[in-house]
Amino acid sequence: MSGPQPTDLHPLERLPEEWRAWMQARRQPTYRGDQVFEWLHGRNLADPAAMTNLPAELRDELTTVGLAVPATVAHVHRSTDGSRKLLVDLGDDCRIETVLLPMTRGSDDADLADSEDEDGEDGGEGEHGEHRAGNASGGPATRVSQCLSTQVGCAMGCVFCASGIAGLKRNMTAAEIVAQVSLGRKSLGPDEALRNLVFMGMGEPLHNYDATVRAIRILTHPKGLGLAPRRITVSTSGLVPEIGKFGAEFGGKVGLAISLHQADDAKRSALMPLNKRYPIRELLDAVRKYPLDRRRRVTIEYTLVAGQNDAPEDARRLARLLANLQVKVNLIPMNPIEHSTLGPPPAPRVAEFQAYLQSTGLLCFVRRRRGDDVAAACGQLVLEGERPNARFVSRQPRG
Ligand code: SF4
Repeated sequence: MSGPQPTDLHPLERLPEEWRAWMQARRQPTYRGDQVFEWLHGRNLADPAAMTNLPAELRDELTTVGLAVPATVAHVHRSTDGSRKLLVDLGDDCRIETVLLPMTRGSDDADLADSEDEDGEDGGEGEHGEHRAGNASGGPATRVSQCLSTQVGCAMGCVFCASGIAGLKRNMTAAEIVAQVSLGRKSLGPDEALRNLVFMGMGEPLHNYDATVRAIRILTHPKGLGLAPRRITVSTSGLVPEIGKFGAEFGGKVGLAISLHQADDAKRSALMPLNKRYPIRELLDAVRKYPLDRRRRVTIEYTLVAGQNDAPEDARRLARLLANLQVKVNLIPMNPIEHSTLGPPPAPRVAEFQAYLQSTGLLCFVRRRRGDDVAAACGQLVLEGERPNARFVSRQPRG
């Protein structure tokens, strides 16, 4: 299989076999490659001097090469509800954000990652400590979901989303995607355990397909962090061919979430321009074919926007579309965002919408908005001070 050569890759984005090739080229035993991978991803440590099971000359070479994580935390915004948003500097005038969301068992946001305990298991799948349920003192740890970005900005232009405002600046590398997890792990409290990863931050993960896939392979590798694929959910706005490719890539073991938000093609196209290319029927056909385990469901994300998609007729249309699909619905009252006149419906309207879907037999949750006080809608921190683009402004409902 051809692909990037180990020397082209940032150290953080090399898989064990690529580290082994790197070692071989330096006449080192290949198992040294596994050891470096384990330090970097299992122990989350990038200082060669601390890699005590490596010979001194190899540590010196790794120091010369440089293993540093290609990102730094520029700022941490803490919400009163416990969520933290890390504003991450990628070193080239590009900033992205990643959010840590502590969850308490039974909370209404425990469904944030589709990888909730449908399988009844409770962590402990990897070798490396902090993502296990349970803390050093043996007590139950607070489970943390981390929301990851995959692109600086986004090309998809969804009108309700802060990340779409400035368009796509660039793709993130796999090393930068993995670096978010490294920084997130370092910021965990002693009673917190990283439990789930959700690719729902800035960017469309399947629009940066190769880097997203490589990052998932690294994060799930048993010699590294070893997170079970079912603890990862990738959210897409509807890139139909890539959904099929991604399902085959991981055999459906990685969770899938679809940002649907409208049950009517014309209205969805107005909210999400990608719908013109891949209309709802095609998208739901891709969902039907996604090879998910029978016990799990694809998550349908439906951001409720007052006056746009929250009417009883919208709920009826949505229920008809999703009938007989192996899905669950997450209703997300929209986060208010700067530069937009759109906003969430009142709580009773949200409850009615949920009640109707449930009455048809659909599994349906309302996701509690988290971190409003730290501007938790995706892209907002990075966009502070930026101006919306003309396309975004022209799509806003007129008063
Ligand atoms: S909702 Fe997702 S796909 Fe749409 S603009 Fe925002 S980040 Fe991009």
